Amino acid sequence: MTLHPGAGTAVPADPEHDPTATYALDPAVVRRLTSRIVSTTGEAQKSTAPFTGQPIASLPVSSPADVVTATAQARAAQRSWATVPLDLRARMLLRLHDLVLDRQDEILDLIQWESGKSRKHAFEEVAHVAMTARYYGRTAHRHLAPSRRMGVYPGLTRIDVNRIPRGVVGIISPWNYPFTMALSDGLAALLAGNAVVHKPDSQTPVTALFGIDLLTQAGMPGDLWQLVYGPGDVVGSAIVDNTDYVCFTGSTRTGRAVATRAAERLIGASLELGGKNPMLVLRDADLDRAAEGAVRACFSSAGQLCVSLERVYVADQVFEPFMKRFVQRTEAMKLSSAFDYSADMGCLISQAQLDTVVHHVDDARDKGATVVTGGRPRPDVGPLFYEPTVLSGVRPGMSCFSDETFGPVVSVYRFSDEREAVERANDGQYGLNASIFTRDGARGRRLASQIRCGTVNINEGYGATFGSVDSPMGGMRDSGLGRRQGAEGIHRYVEPQAVATQRLLSLRPVLGMSQERYARTLTTTLRLLKKAHRP
Ligand code: NAD
Repeated sequence: MTLHPGAGTAVPADPEHDPTATYALDPAVVRRLTSRIVSTTGEAQKSTAPFTGQPIASLPVSSPADVVTATAQARAAQRSWATVPLDLRARMLLRLHDLVLDRQDEILDLIQWESGKSRKHAFEEVAHVAMTARYYGRTAHRHLAPSRRMGVYPGLTRIDVNRIPRGVVGIISPWNYPFTMALSDGLAALLAGNAVVHKPDSQTPVTALFGIDLLTQAGMPGDLWQLVYGPGDVVGSAIVDNTDYVCFTGSTRTGRAVATRAAERLIGASLELGGKNPMLVLRDADLDRAAEGAVRACFSSAGQLCVSLERVYVADQVFEPFMKRFVQRTEAMKLSSAFDYSADMGCLISQAQLDTVVHHVDDARDKGATVVTGGRPRPDVGPLFYEPTVLSGVRPGMSCFSDETFGPVVSVYRFSDEREAVERANDGQYGLNASIFTRDGARGRRLASQIRCGTVNINEGYGATFGSVDSPMGGMRDSGLGRRQGAEGIHRYVEPQAVATQRLLSLRPVLGMSQERYARTLTTTLRLLKKAHRP
């Protein structure tokens, strides 16, 4: 399904120079994709393209009753799915890996069109889904096979730990990474033997539907992944009320509401929420590398990335040379809505995101901060474009000092000693991601252990941890609960079950032994076991 000209409108060779360019999806494909949504309301909701403001598709809206239906269908499908051998489930993920790479042009068009991001940032999503599919496809047994543990009577008590699927996993996915956030968390859930009920964000549903369609082509049984669509406070809440576990990605405010509701039902939830992520440039940093890394990590997806950097702390000794390089690179960035790899940055998702960015920058400027570069909307490029912006002199009391901007805006500060830099990096309520640039890896790792963030990247901004899918990823403090990726990312979807098989001796006095003698014998045995068992 590639984009083609909308009725009566030509596609310009270079959309950057014609912001009125429109595209349309093949209506038959849209009908097929949206037919998967469980909806009986008769209502529909339109999504629009951030690059142009043009409508993309009209999708059927679900009700809370539809979520109940979807969950029941998922529950029925899950029962047979849990009996499918692990190798077959894993093979489905490996087929998805190939499909995603083969069909990447269509996926990239869709991601760009629905989210407004540049193609190179859209490609991060394609790569992330492929890497996640390969990783879980290849490590299924390592994470899910029953394991043996030590029993109470060594040699006589055998312990097997089984990984029992939770049942139906609810996924509420965001708009900022509409392809990988729709799919990647669900891949681990499916591999672990669960079904999924999923609500993609209302701003980017078609990308998610296309991904689920690819999963079906990779061999996923029809009813195993149920789709619902509509307002978060109605349809999202109903997911929390009906499923057995919830995976949520979005704002801290909504995450708190989801966690409260999940706690009422005593179901688990993983929450990946906001961040105000810091970067430290130490005095021994390679400044070219640090400046290049800062540009990528501050402005990826126009800063609408939970792990992107919004605060940069630079050692006094290298402040000026770093700033020169950082500002030069920022000013060289090309903003464009081109459907090719020529753009360095796309636009914001919505007027609401643009309003937040404008407010944060104007508020900082009005209260005395300096706009070192950027600081203006760019309607000449498209309605939701904003320049990559570097601020200095940002202080407490300015909105962008501690509130997440979720846009292409970064504040730069100086520091004189590293202890102070770590303290300032730990300021505020968030703890998602941090970055340290230094030529001394051991020093970087020492500082990392003092930073209260779920991921720390040394000599990278966020990509090294995000791309290392064998490692856990998530937030401390107000940035979330639980982790995606790695063993932690799949074990959240299973309940460990310990099965003990007792051989020969029972756990009671034997051979006519009195209870008192039994207690004394056990006491002696415990003392011997402590001496004998040295790990
Ligand atoms: P949001 O938290 O309001 O919405 C995220 C998702 O949750 C959406 O799909 C929404 O429909 C759903 N939702 C809303 N209310 C819900 C409820 N009561 N119960 C269950 N689900 C509900 O975020 P947003 O409005 O899309 O964006 C606002 C801010 O959130 C952004 O500016 C950014 O700070 C943050 N955000 C973070 C991420 C991330 O990757 N961590 C992603 C998107 C947004």
